[in-house]
Amino acid sequence: MKITDIRTMKLWGPLLHGQGGETGSSFSKTIIRVDTDAGIYGLGEAEHFMGVRDAIAYMKGYFVGRDPFEVNAIVSEMLFATLPPHHAEARHGLMPGNIRACPTSSPTATPWGPVLWACSGVEMALTDLVGKALKTPAYNLLGGKFRDKARIYLDRSSPAEITKPDAWKKMASETAAAGFTQMKFDIDHMATDAQGDVWNHTISLAQINRIVKRLTIVRECLGPDFEICVDCHMQYNATDAIRLAQVLEPLNLLWFEDPTPIVNPDSCAEVRAKSPIAICVGEMFSAEQFRIFIEHKACDILHPDVLFCGGMHEMRRIADYAELHYLPMAMHGNGGALAAIAAAHVAVASRNFIGLEYHFIETAWIGDYVTRDAPLFKDGHVHLTDAPGLGVELNEPICKKYLAPGESLF
Ligand SMILES: [Mg+2]
Repeated sequence: MKITDIRTMKLWGPLLHGQGGETGSSFSKTIIRVDTDAGIYGLGEAEHFMGVRDAIAYMKGYFVGRDPFEVNAIVSEMLFATLPPHHAEARHGLMPGNIRACPTSSPTATPWGPVLWACSGVEMALTDLVGKALKTPAYNLLGGKFRDKARIYLDRSSPAEITKPDAWKKMASETAAAGFTQMKFDIDHMATDAQGDVWNHTISLAQINRIVKRLTIVRECLGPDFEICVDCHMQYNATDAIRLAQVLEPLNLLWFEDPTPIVNPDSCAEVRAKSPIAICVGEMFSAEQFRIFIEHKACDILHPDVLFCGGMHEMRRIADYAELHYLPMAMHGNGGALAAIAAAHVAVASRNFIGLEYHFIETAWIGDYVTRDAPLFKDGHVHLTDAPGLGVELNEPICKKYLAPGESLF
């Protein structure tokens, strides 16, 4: 079997998920389809970030003609290079779109940024394709499942009316009523009514006091058994992050996410040493970056994203590496339905999985652009079936409705 095409299409529509009281923005998704000469195709999702579609076009130029079963080899070649000779049909020199291919060595050898994000989406489509070819669910390609369903944790950022106690109660109680048992708030969006200097990486006592008050309302509403997490979005200096974590101790939070800018594992290790709450990091990390943070004792919980870490098999590698250090793995999720289902396949096949993030519960089209033989969520989980590959098909009416201007449906 050979890869004959790698195509993308952009979906675009409204986004109702609010941050810090803001609502009413828009959201884009890049959908990927990998075709083969056997008539079998795979579907993937990529984040619509700058450079991603260029990198996918590059992959098309380089990997058409390649055996789609060589999933790990293709990812490795893209991210880490190989020595020549390369496969016979790889294009060299100037490719369509005036993208220059590296004439020797590797296509890119760039294991971060748009190359890594593009590679993640194409890998997802290849894994779907191989599962369909072998007539087995993707989780069986990853070693088989430990569980039948993956727990979803709902990211709510904050309610629109952050100063009103009832808004916090309503958001908490609606999440629990919908069947979820874990949720997350964004620290930096919880008290924008007391925001100080936005540049100096501090958090004021006024903000801290409001955050404690609002999270206490949530804890009292949900009771002692509900898992609550908070995300700092890499916004704070180490001193203030430690102060904040220590004040939040009585709320018994599951994790304190990305407290400091993630380029310095030593600062994060400093926070971790004094934080009473487990430190969770890594939503944009590759496997190599997790290794660095674990070696610097800078994290308690790993948090890769299937759209950013290199794809499903790379995420499985990260899970195993964490497992060898007796560290749990949560999964960041900024993706739509396809990314959530792909991550769930990895989640059920990873021993140390604890929760998969989903953002877009208020924005139906992002969860509806693919269909399968089960609802996306039931009782706060993604339940996986024995359908081959990722077990999804494009929902054509939804894709047509939200196709971005100038785009063509696959
Ligand atoms: Mg985060």
